[in-house]
Amino acid sequence: MNATPRSHCVELDARDPLAPLHDAFELPGGVIYLDGNSLGALPRATARRVQAVVEQEWGVGLIRSWNTAGWIDLAQRIGDKIAALVGAAAGQLVVGDSTSVNLYKALDSAIALSGPEPARRVILSERSNFPTDLYIADSVARARGWRLELAEAHELPARIDATLGVLMLTHVNYRTGRMHDLARLTRMAHDAGALTVWDLAHSAGAVPVDLLGSHADWAVGCGYKYLNGGPGAPAFVWAHPRHTARMDREQLRQPLSGWLGHVAPFDFTTDYRPAPGITRYVCGTPALLSMAALECGVDVYAAAQPLGGMAALRAKSLALGELFIERVASRCGDAGLELVSPTDSALRGSQVSYAHPQGHAIMQALIARGVIGDFRAGTPGGSGESGDLLRFGLTPLYTRYVDVWDATEHLGQVLDSGEWRDPRFAQRHAVT
Ligand SMILES: *Cc1c(COP(=O)(O)O)cnc(C)c1O
Repeated sequence: MNATPRSHCVELDARDPLAPLHDAFELPGGVIYLDGNSLGALPRATARRVQAVVEQEWGVGLIRSWNTAGWIDLAQRIGDKIAALVGAAAGQLVVGDSTSVNLYKALDSAIALSGPEPARRVILSERSNFPTDLYIADSVARARGWRLELAEAHELPARIDATLGVLMLTHVNYRTGRMHDLARLTRMAHDAGALTVWDLAHSAGAVPVDLLGSHADWAVGCGYKYLNGGPGAPAFVWAHPRHTARMDREQLRQPLSGWLGHVAPFDFTTDYRPAPGITRYVCGTPALLSMAALECGVDVYAAAQPLGGMAALRAKSLALGELFIERVASRCGDAGLELVSPTDSALRGSQVSYAHPQGHAIMQALIARGVIGDFRAGTPGGSGESGDLLRFGLTPLYTRYVDVWDATEHLGQVLDSGEWRDPRFAQRHAVT
């Protein structure tokens, strides 16, 4: 293995067209942040923006700001910006609620529009999907007299047949970073007469997504991961315009028919009539302060546009991933770390994950050194993909090549020294 010297990483950073974006973030000194796949870093613009919304728009503008500061349009304005990142058009995607809640709305709509044939009352998903997606799908299925079925990723193609109603998948797996072929699986589902609901939690802002080009049906995604919207930031939901057009024609509602998804909320009528298009997916009053923060995160992608946009971000993300994998192999080769992310970069999202039986303590020791990734417990007795995982998120907006070099050097030192054996690293906190 021909090890990359640190000086080469310094050169790569100096030549990186995306390097200026690092300054768009407040990153604390002494920290290498590799957890942007779980909670994105704080954009520099956010604190001042939120302060202005609090002090001026709320404090001075008061209720007037719903009109004068554009609060009422914010969910759609940010939605339009996110749409541009996932291959959707303006007016098709709206921001609000959490990913879990939006998934409920999307799945229920998919069931409503998939017709009455009883042979098709199955939602199919992946066993290692993010648990909230499975819990929500199970709830929707129960409420609708449907059934949730699970399969391993490699079994999915064979399971997409005439007994399937809705295929619900997370595009990039949260544990391994493995990426599904969204276009191909959507085509297979359609050929079988089924509809698709895609969760883009680990894709939006991380990998190129082409929702319209893939003819996908519904999609949801997360605001606080790669979009850097802040803890608990609002999520988003998209529906293909062929579905919202039909919902318009047939006056179909999504299941959480709140007043701001009404065609005329300020008429205060007692009967519900859905707003046209994606607006029907708005439920109640949006969390304005969180929306203001989310817009700052999303706006960093606008700044990335003249520097090469999503294509440049993807290229750097993959280069960071290659470097990480190569460095771990050369620096930590015999320490028992098992790469569970695909080595084929076409199949990898923007993170790398390693299985290790002592993964929790190793990650705690790394965090004590200022290298912040995270840990996801495996199934009891699990190994490989289902074992205890160390996850390292690579965020090309602010992760530098030297950060990867230094982080993997720390990882090597933690493993060489055995410092992870210190009892304080065995203590498990509520959030891992
Ligand atoms: C992060 C994530 C979520 C988060 O859902 P919340 O409702 O925001 O808590 C859901 N699904 C997937 C696949 C995720 O990665």
